[in-house]
Amino acid sequence: MDDYAHLNRTELIRRLQALESCEGQAASQPAKDALHDSEERLRAILRTAVERTFGFTASELIGRNVTALMPSPYREEHDGYLTNYLRTGHAKIIGIGREVLGQRKDGTVFPMDLAVSEVRLANRRLFTGFIRDITERKKAEQRLAELAHSLAEKNKELETIVYVASHDLRSPLVNIQGFSRELARACSRLRDRLVGVTCGEPEVGVLLDEDIPEALEFIQAGVAKIDLLLSGFLRYSRLGRAALRIERLDMNRLLALIAQTMDFQLKQAGAALQIGPVPDAPGDATQVTQVFSNLLDNALKYRDPARALQISVSGRLEEGRPTYAVTDNGIGIAREHQGKIFEIFHRLDPSAGEGEGLGLTIAQRIIERHNGKIWVESQPGKGSTFWISLPGLEHAKSQP
Ligand code: ADP
Repeated sequence: MDDYAHLNRTELIRRLQALESCEGQAASQPAKDALHDSEERLRAILRTAVERTFGFTASELIGRNVTALMPSPYREEHDGYLTNYLRTGHAKIIGIGREVLGQRKDGTVFPMDLAVSEVRLANRRLFTGFIRDITERKKAEQRLAELAHSLAEKNKELETIVYVASHDLRSPLVNIQGFSRELARACSRLRDRLVGVTCGEPEVGVLLDEDIPEALEFIQAGVAKIDLLLSGFLRYSRLGRAALRIERLDMNRLLALIAQTMDFQLKQAGAALQIGPVPDAPGDATQVTQVFSNLLDNALKYRDPARALQISVSGRLEEGRPTYAVTDNGIGIAREHQGKIFEIFHRLDPSAGEGEGLGLTIAQRIIERHNGKIWVESQPGKGSTFWISLPGLEHAKSQP
């Protein structure tokens, strides 16, 4: 005897019809029982789902048009849509699914996911709608969007504070710089005047010749360091304020131009640079140029003196997103430092060549403003690859 329990409803009906159509042979009792069980189960599910979601009892709805569960304009559009589908076979929801609005018995409207599937039986076509109340999900999405918005606002505010602070700190700093120089000059004049006088006062001589000039040098070095940091902050915060002019960038051309301007440094370092071909991307020409120049600059700066430097820039489309890799065979970056290098003023080895630890911070800021991503893969002693992924070209015309 067949075990019918595992068969789904459509299959059961199909088998029963097949059985009953065989001359003189009625459907077996187990098959009928299985169909009955299956129908009862379905009815129970429907009863609970419909009652809980829409507030109607099953008996209030059975036999009524499904439009009773929809608000306008879906209610008015529904029958026309169905007729159109039956005539043309052109589906907008059936087999596709989308977000629509449902209406409860008390008239309240709520968002829901609707998927409609079609079952073709021997002599009729059945449409089954699967709905899910997504009110909570929608609320969470709305809350997330609000949070993202307020985060962006806070970020802007912070950037303004950084900008104003670094701008305003500049002028007292220039004063300190100017007056410490003045003091150094005065000190040296005093020393000239006191030549001979200080012979009997060796302590005064040490003060004028060593202690005061040394203290002034420390002040000036400190001031220069603050100046460097402040101009870094200013550069960083200006970035966030500069308008982006997003257009379709011919990336092969853009990279070739960068390579051209770096030709001298590359030759001096005995470096081989290989580029592309790479896909185009949407972006602000000046800022994207800055990012790639920075990466190539770093590849040059952090090369391994033990081997000839090789740099390559490649690119491809990854799920529609132009994605680029700038690879070098330089000193590499230990895993534990890989996240830190994007932090402002973070340098792994402050004695390693010139730099203020700002290049990658700025690169990251630029790429994020383009709705892209930048990350690094690296092996110490082998080299690094900096990855950049930008939005698809359909964003080329939109202004953020
Ligand atoms: P800077 O180069 O001015 O120090 P960056 O923000 O560009 O600042 O880089 C931060 C740090 O990341 C560098 O000081 C260096 O330690 C490390 N780094 C960046 N690029 C590379 C690279 N291609 N190879 C090895 N280390 C790198």
